[in-house]
Amino acid sequence: MGLDIIQCRPACAACCIVISISSPLPGMPNGKPAGIPCVNLDEQQRCKIYDSIDYPLVCRNHKASPEFCGETKEEAMERLGELERLTQNDDLHLRQSLIVLLGSKEL
Ligand code: SF4
Ligand code: SF4
Repeated sequence: MGLDIIQCRPACAACCIVISISSPLPGMPNGKPAGIPCVNLDEQQRCKIYDSIDYPLVCRNHKASPEFCGETKEEAMERLGELERLTQNDDLHLRQSLIVLLGSKEL
């Protein structure tokens, strides 16, 4: 059983900044390190490639959940940052899978 899914908060982008992504992203062929904003964010902190064919599977699979997204961007930054710290010695693919797993109701 997964977590509850909530509506993604506009202009948040905490997960597009805080967590590391090991798979290639458009403009970031080696993935994204933790704490580095994805290059696909626009000035309003929205994903520029959302709903395009380039939108990565890992992002498509990641769902907003109250447990990780909290009530505010700051809470999300803190919670996701803690998850990164707790798993920093894990294999990048395993960590990414864990984040997707925890955020996905279907899994
Ligand atoms: S942290 Fe949660 S609310 Fe914020 S952008 Fe990511 S999924 Fe959406
Ligand atoms: S591609 Fe879009 S959704 Fe995925 S990390 Fe980058 S900005 Fe966020």
